[in-house]
Amino acid sequence: MTEQIKNILTAERENLKRQLELYKSEDPLADPNQSSSRTTDDAITVSEGHDRIVATRLGLKQRLHEVERALAQIDLGTWGICTNCGKEIAKDRLQALPTAQLCAQCEKEV
Ligand SMILES: [Zn+2]
Repeated sequence: MTEQIKNILTAERENLKRQLELYKSEDPLADPNQSSSRTTDDAITVSEGHDRIVATRLGLKQRLHEVERALAQIDLGTWGICTNCGKEIAKDRLQALPTAQLCAQCEKEV
C-alpha cells in the first residue's frame, strides 16, 4: 500500500510544482515592490487579482510542503504514525488523506 501512496504523492508533487510554475509566470504583478503598495481604496480593485494569485500560490506551496513531508516520512518509515500520540493512523483515513499527520482522535482534539 505504501508504494501506491508514494506514487500518488510523487505525481501530486509534480503536479503542484507545475501549477506553481504556471502561477509564477502568469502573475502580472510579480514585482515585489508593487505588491506592497496597496494604500488606497482604488488600489484594492487593481490588486484583487494579484491577491487571489498570491493566495492560490500560498495554498499550492502549503500543499506541496505537506506532500514532500509525507514522502520524506515514507522514506524514513514514519509515515502513517500520528505525530501527536505516536499511534498508527487508520488505513482508511490515510487512503483518503495520505498527508495526514494526526490520527482521527488527535485531529478532533486539536
Ligand atoms: Zn493521535
